[in-house]
Amino acid sequence: HADIAMYRAKKLGRNNFQFYTPAMNDEAQERVRIEGALRKALDRGEFVLHYQPQVDLATGEIVGMEALLRWKHPELGMVPPGRFIGVAEDTGLIAPIGAWVMRTAAQQNKAWQDAGLGQLRVAVNLSARQFASPDLVADIERVLADTGLPPEYLEIELTESLFMSDIAQAVDVLHGMKALGIKLSIDDFGTGYSSLSYLSRFPIDVLKIDRSFVNDIDRDASDAAIVASIITLAHNLKLSVIAEGVESAGQLDYLRRHGCDEMQGFYFSKPLPADEFAALLRARTALALAAPELDEETA
Ligand code: C2E
Ligand code: MG
Ligand code: MG
Ligand code: MG
Repeated sequence: HADIAMYRAKKLGRNNFQFYTPAMNDEAQERVRIEGALRKALDRGEFVLHYQPQVDLATGEIVGMEALLRWKHPELGMVPPGRFIGVAEDTGLIAPIGAWVMRTAAQQNKAWQDAGLGQLRVAVNLSARQFASPDLVADIERVLADTGLPPEYLEIELTESLFMSDIAQAVDVLHGMKALGIKLSIDDFGTGYSSLSYLSRFPIDVLKIDRSFVNDIDRDASDAAIVASIITLAHNLKLSVIAEGVESAGQLDYLRRHGCDEMQGFYFSKPLPADEFAALLRARTALALAAPELDEETA
């Protein structure tokens, strides 16, 4: 009957997305499975954060980290965020999960600072639901108070899609967050329906160049031009700029020559479990990017 369903779906035409297909059924089943397990994951302590270093391109020092969520499911194994964040968003489960992420990241960062491992920023990704919550600013304020992390070391990563529904409302929320003294960045910059006009209206600090542009810097002249332009744009607006997904020495060299402030990517380090990240910090408080062989040894 799968073939019949497929045939009928085809006859109905490509735009008939509501029509049943076996593929949709698999996907729906996967979502139901993920949702059921996701409901129990927080209580069972199945989430962990990995931390990916952010490196100053002028000094080679690690100046920050991005906290990235991982789900260690006893049967499904390590589930990457791409497979469950969407479900968590649709079911509302992202609210408690996101709150756990922010608190854990802040606590961990404060512990590393107290242990003398450096005064580093920690960046946390925010979902659309979290951004829409009327409690957002109060929640962040409470995390800062409870953990004792000074606000300037917390960065919130936002995507352009969060701003689309109500710009005026978004401006209010961003000012509320900024008033706490934290940093705000635009993640995946250049991939959304970007309106450049918001850049001057929003109190943001950092642009994160999406890795799709960085990826082809040395092969694709227009991607290289886009990256150089974003760096100039950021600096003209007095914003800092970081490149995501840096995987090669060639990409690093291009970014450095064009004055990019920071980089994050597998070339320096993958996202690491907390203990490995701490070991990396201990091993090198200052890193000479001129010696990439060293990076591979510690990665
Ligand atoms: P993102 O915020 O843009 O995070 C960067 C992603 O790029 C991460 O994938 C990271 O592992 C990957 N990455 C870093 N360097 C490189 C590189 O050199 N090459 C390549 N190919 N990839 C690189 P990850 O951890 O799978 O996360 C995917 C997305 O899931 C994130 O994209 C973010 O949108 C979302 N996410 C992760 N953690 C959270 C969270 O705690 N809350 C929310 N709401 N979303 C999260
Ligand atoms: Mg991010
Ligand atoms: Mg990104
Ligand atoms: Mg391209």
